[in-house]
Amino acid sequence: MNSSDPAVRVRGLRKEYGGLTAVADLDLDIERGETFALLGPNGAGKSTTVEILEGYRHRTAGEVSVLGVDPAHAKLDWKARLGIVLQSSGESGQYTVREQLAHFAHFYPHPRGVEDVIAAVGLEKQAKTRISKLSGGQQRRVDVALAIVGRPELLFLDEPTTGFDPEARRDFWGLIEQLKSEGTTILLTTHYLDEAARLGDRGGVIVGGRLVAVGRIDQLGGAEARVPLVRWRDDDGALREERTERPAELVVELARRLGGEPRELEVIRPSLEDVYLRLVGAPDHESRSASGAAAGAAETPGTPFEPAKEAEPA
Ligand code: ADP
Repeated sequence: MNSSDPAVRVRGLRKEYGGLTAVADLDLDIERGETFALLGPNGAGKSTTVEILEGYRHRTAGEVSVLGVDPAHAKLDWKARLGIVLQSSGESGQYTVREQLAHFAHFYPHPRGVEDVIAAVGLEKQAKTRISKLSGGQQRRVDVALAIVGRPELLFLDEPTTGFDPEARRDFWGLIEQLKSEGTTILLTTHYLDEAARLGDRGGVIVGGRLVAVGRIDQLGGAEARVPLVRWRDDDGALREERTERPAELVVELARRLGGEPRELEVIRPSLEDVYLRLVGAPDHESRSASGAAAGAAETPGTPFEPAKEAEPA
């Protein structure tokens, strides 16, 4: 493939299970070297999409190219260019960390050094420990070690830190950041929005099999979704709110009109979580009494807040 081609290119992807449409007309590009976070509620179609890209599932329609190859017709040499960390750890065996890694390294044409990989995932002290004796977090590191030993061009991380304590999660993020800095392309699915914000360069939100937003993580949902919201109790007793780029000016104006500090004054800067919850149509603190058009859309579960579109680069 041409090195300027995207790592992943998907056009009009569709997957039906019997009468159920799990993925509908999905378009997606992931550039080389980028970390893309795929977000969405349970049942949205994330795993189906990722498994089609990994070559584990057949699609109903659409075009898919992963590292320049159609996964539906890919051979072993293509598989060797991928690293896959599945949702649940498959590693609990009787071999030690070092033995298992050395065994896997043989499958690849240009493996990383086993000791380098052990160091990269921070398991030096456990190199001679049987995998079945490791903690959950350490076994997850073995999963990642096995996925990167073949020097993958594209790494799939499916909910990699589910069940981690906060410290283990931070350590794990450090490891992924290291892989990023080495130029590995990463497709991450996660339920943790802080993880998506920390690791993702770009992201997409899938709802009901459709990509309802895609763009830079810090611009997801479009500029409009990030405009601060000012909420206050007006002099007629009603709770009012207004979106404005200049909340301070609005507060000063309100204070003048109301003859003092507005009651129940709140200035809310939407976080990624707020934006995400509106995109997936879940009720959240920001939209509980919102009156704007965007909040109206959020009241209908499953209704996209806005059509999928690429956010403008900053
Ligand atoms: P997510 O990963 O976002 O939780 P999935 O891709 O697993 O979503 O599922 C998308 C939809 O497809 C869901 O409605 C799910 O029940 C359905 N689905 C997933 N796998 C199968 C399958 N093998 N057979 C039938 N339906 C499936």
